[in-house]
Amino acid sequence: MSDSSLPELVQTLFKSTKKTDKILASLKKITERIDGWYEPRAEFERWRDSVEGKAWKCQKFKAQKGLCAICKEAIELKGSHIAHRKPISLHPELALSIENLQIACPDCNISKGSAIHT
Ligand SMILES: [Zn+2]
Repeated sequence: MSDSSLPELVQTLFKSTKKTDKILASLKKITERIDGWYEPRAEFERWRDSVEGKAWKCQKFKAQKGLCAICKEAIELKGSHIAHRKPISLHPELALSIENLQIACPDCNISKGSAIHT
C-alpha cells in the first residue's frame, strides 16, 4: 500500500465503493423478493386465525355446501383448509383477496402446490 500513489489509492477506493453499491443493490432486490414471499403468508395466517377469518371460513363452507372446492368431495369444516386459487407464491398480492380464497380438503390444498385452480 505504501508504494501506491494517492491517485491510485483514490482509484481503488472508488472501484471498491462501486462494487459495494452493486452488492447492496442486489441484496436489496433479494430482500424485497423474500419479503414478498413471506409477509403476505404471515398476514394471511393472522387473518385465518382471527375471529373474522374463522367466521368467513364458516360462511364460505356453507356457501360451498360442505364440499371441497377442488375435488367436490364432502368435507368437515373442522380440518378443512382455506386454499388460495392463485397461490401466494405466485400472487402474493392476492393473499387476502376473498375472491381468491376457497375451502378445500387438506389433501387437495397440499397436493395442488403452486398449481392454479379456478
Ligand atoms: Zn378436495
